[in-house]
Amino acid sequence: MPKLTVRQEIANLSAYVPGLSIAEIQQTYHLSQVIKMASNENPLGMPPLAQEAVARHAAEAFRYPQGGNPRLTRALAVRHKVDARRVIVGNGSDELIDLLIRVLADTGRHNIVCFDPCFSIYPIQARICGVETRRLPLKENFSFDFDALLQCVDAHTRLVFLTTPDNPSGYCPPRSAVQELASSLAAQAPHCLLVVDEAYMDFADDEAAASLLASGLLSDNTAVTRTFSKSFGLAGLRLGYAILPGNLAEYLWRARLPFSVNILAEEAALAALEDTAFYEATQQTVRVGRKDLAAGLTALGCTVWPSAANFLMFRMPECGPDAQSCFEGLLEKGIIIRPLKSYGLPEHLRVSVGNAEENRLFLAALADIMARTQDATARRKKP
Ligand SMILES: *Cc1c(COP(=O)(O)O)cnc(C)c1O
Repeated sequence: MPKLTVRQEIANLSAYVPGLSIAEIQQTYHLSQVIKMASNENPLGMPPLAQEAVARHAAEAFRYPQGGNPRLTRALAVRHKVDARRVIVGNGSDELIDLLIRVLADTGRHNIVCFDPCFSIYPIQARICGVETRRLPLKENFSFDFDALLQCVDAHTRLVFLTTPDNPSGYCPPRSAVQELASSLAAQAPHCLLVVDEAYMDFADDEAAASLLASGLLSDNTAVTRTFSKSFGLAGLRLGYAILPGNLAEYLWRARLPFSVNILAEEAALAALEDTAFYEATQQTVRVGRKDLAAGLTALGCTVWPSAANFLMFRMPECGPDAQSCFEGLLEKGIIIRPLKSYGLPEHLRVSVGNAEENRLFLAALADIMARTQDATARRKKP
């Protein structure tokens, strides 16, 4: 046997913790039906036009995709009114986040800056690259202190990551504040790129007012990433994109694996962009469902944070079961939500907005778990 050793960064790595899958919960709890509200996927499933496109093009999957995915890149450039040379598509926005770090930051020398908690892919990919992550705790109400964030930036900072609306809280900062951050950063750290992850921006109350990308005001030091995983219903096909400043996209194309966006994902994405009926239905379902879920959780005594995304972060009331038993109680009933322990928030939970039926079943199951906990407490207290 050869004595294989892995790099130190990998040996010490805590990998990304994904939401549990339907299949594993069906097996563990012997359930026929499981509802997943753990990974912010689209509550309406896959766009019908994208399903047709995948079926129609299935027989072409023996071919390699066209290099550079020019049709999709062009369609996205038109959608966002930017030069197609600034657009790159990837195997999920995860791939583009990874590429940005690898292309811009030197191992052992440069650092990235982000909030704590934040989407864990940023610090994980940085670590794999041997790049330090400097983190600023969010404010108590989960909003952003941009002045303090800027203090974390030094001469070796190559990227600042910002998620808006934020995951896991759903907080959405005013666009003007993000623009100010971009200009302060440009003055303070001319070699640093601001990456604004707009994975959930379609769900903001007023996307045109909240989004840097929609505003058309992207400055030279700012990149925006978006994804087909949420509002477009294609999480399993893996497709994300970024709008990058200057000629940065060209460098990412050079560094990207040549065929990371597969033929069927590309066809599905082109069709999903055309499926405006599905997109509108998603918007409607998420906005109504978000309101219903927030009202239902509040009525149960939970603390719910305001969310501009397709999920809600909440805490159980003092008298209720703790977050972990609540999560496990829901699993036993075939409902998967997301505990936020891996985000450093052991008492917080996150639930994705489902369709009307899923939301109803989730709230009913939670009410049942809470009632049982209260019964048990009352019994224990009896003399
Ligand atoms: C879901 C999510 C993404 C999307 O990732 P993909 O790789 O495109 O599926 C990106 N950023 C954040 C913060 C997310 O929560």
